[in-house]
Amino acid sequence: MSRRWVVTGGSRGIGLAVAKRALAAGDRVAVLARRPPPELAVTLGETPHLVLPADVSDPLSVAAAMASVAAQWGGIDVLVNNAGLHRGGKLERLPLEDWNAVLATNLSGAMHCLRAALPHMGGGASVVNVGAVVGFRGFPGDAAYGASKAGLAGLTQVMAVELASRQVRVNLVVPGFVITEMTAAVDERARERLLARIPLRREGTEDEIAEVIYWVAGSTYMTGAVIPTDGGLMCNL
Ligand code: NAP
Repeated sequence: MSRRWVVTGGSRGIGLAVAKRALAAGDRVAVLARRPPPELAVTLGETPHLVLPADVSDPLSVAAAMASVAAQWGGIDVLVNNAGLHRGGKLERLPLEDWNAVLATNLSGAMHCLRAALPHMGGGASVVNVGAVVGFRGFPGDAAYGASKAGLAGLTQVMAVELASRQVRVNLVVPGFVITEMTAAVDERARERLLARIPLRREGTEDEIAEVIYWVAGSTYMTGAVIPTDGGLMCNL
C-alpha cells in the first residue's frame, strides 16, 4: 500500500535520496527544506509529491507544513527527521550562535516535527531519526553537532517508549561519512584520517543510507533501535 512520507531536509543529500527511494516504491513524499531549489520538483519526477518550504527550528513553520500534508493526503505514515546543520568549532571558540543554531535544527527540530506530525499519524506509523557517529563518540571540534546528535539518540528512545502504545515506531539510523554538501568542506587530510578509521575504507553513498532508512521505516517489530550505517566507523572511532 502506498505510504505518505514527510522527509525533512529532503532537498539534497541523504534526504533527497530517501525521497527518491520512497517515490520509486510508489509512495507519496512531502519534502521539507528552508530553501528548496526550483528544479527539485523536476528531480522528484512524476510520482505525487509535495515540496514545502519550512524551517524545522521554527515550530509554527513545521506545524503549517505538516497540516498542509495532512490536508492534501489525509495523514502521515512515515516521518524522517533528516534535516541537519553542521557547524564545527572547538569548545572555547565555537560561537554561541552556532551552538544554538545546531541544537535548534538537529535536536529541537526533530521534536517540533514529531509533535506537529503526530496528530496526523495513526497506528503502524513510523519515525526515522537521522543521527551521527559523533553523537556516540567524542570527535574534536564537534561539540554542538555531537551534542545535538547525542540528544537525538536520547530523544529517540523516549519517543519509542512513549509512542509504542499507539503502535508508532521510532528508530535512529546513524550514517558514518557520506560526501554531501554538509561534508564537502572536509579537507583532504581530514578525509584521509577519517577513511583510515572506517574499516570498509570508503565513504558511504547517499543511496546506501537511504536504502537502510527505507527498510527501517517499514520494519514492523523494531522500535528504539540504533542502526549504524557507517562502514564500521562506530566500532573504530
Ligand atoms: P546536506 O546535504 O547539507 O542536506 C541538509 C538538508 O537539510 C538540506 O535539504 C537542507 O535544506 C535541510 N535543512 C538544513 N537546515 C534546515 C532547517 N532548519 N529546516 C529545514 N531543513 C533544513 O546534509 P546531509 O549530509 O544530506 O545530511 C542529512 C542528515 O544526515 C543530517 O541530519 C546529517 O546530520 C546526517 N548525517 C550526515 C552525514 C554525512 O557524512 N553527510 C554523517 C552523519 C549524519 P535547506 O538548506 O534548504 O534548509
